[in-house]
Amino acid sequence: MIGYDFLQGKDMFVDVHTHLTHGKFKDDLVDVIGRAEGERLGAIVCNGLEPVSNRMILEMTRTFPIVKAALGIYPIDAVNHLLPDDFPHRVGKFDVRAEIRFIEECAEKGLLHAIGECGLDGHWLEESTFKEQTFVFESLIDIGIRFHLPIIVHSRKLEREAFEVLAHLGAKKVNMHCYSGKSKWAIDYAESKNWCFSIPANARRSDSFGKLLRNLPATSILTETDAPYLSPVPGGRSEPRDVCQTVAYLGELRGLSFHEAEMLVWSNYEALFAR
Ligand SMILES: [Zn+2]
Repeated sequence: MIGYDFLQGKDMFVDVHTHLTHGKFKDDLVDVIGRAEGERLGAIVCNGLEPVSNRMILEMTRTFPIVKAALGIYPIDAVNHLLPDDFPHRVGKFDVRAEIRFIEECAEKGLLHAIGECGLDGHWLEESTFKEQTFVFESLIDIGIRFHLPIIVHSRKLEREAFEVLAHLGAKKVNMHCYSGKSKWAIDYAESKNWCFSIPANARRSDSFGKLLRNLPATSILTETDAPYLSPVPGGRSEPRDVCQTVAYLGELRGLSFHEAEMLVWSNYEALFAR
């Protein structure tokens, strides 16, 4: 059973993984952020994917204090120069090494709250890209470690490999975003390394997220939306305020009041993101 030290914490919500740079927010970003503030969100960690979104996020943090910058390179973008012409998504070409240097400079200037999104993808990408994906992932982990920043990780279909790379480099501040690998591995890493797992707002519709909310150590649970994706309403657009839905579900599954679940997640956020 968990201790209740977190009850001295603040009552606020957090979205640790969101993409407010997505075109679906271009017409009503101010309203979306206003609704999040109205719901008592204390932080929205916007995750970058490539040069354009990384720079948009830095700009957003100047306009909206609630928005915190996580800069990264998405695994697909990390191998943009290796993708076949018939790859199903449009991916812009850019110099990945130059972007890694840019992220490092931003970390050096103290502009970042986290590193991410970064990681490994074996769903969309072929094995021939794994070596280059791993190089980029390792480079970003290294920046996170050197500047004491949490690393926000995408690990689709390569969860075990992502854990191994992180553990091998000695990463301590880790959040696995939208983790869909075996829950036993997640619980093992959460217990042995104190790593966190952020659960999206569609958790009620997913057995595996329910399992994680129920069984992870209480101090390893965070909330995210991956907005505009993974809406609690099938086919809908999610937005940061939807994290409240995961908090409500967490409370139900673990016998906590809504308020207790809220304070638990916020105190986990503060513990991982404290500098
Ligand atoms: Zn994402």
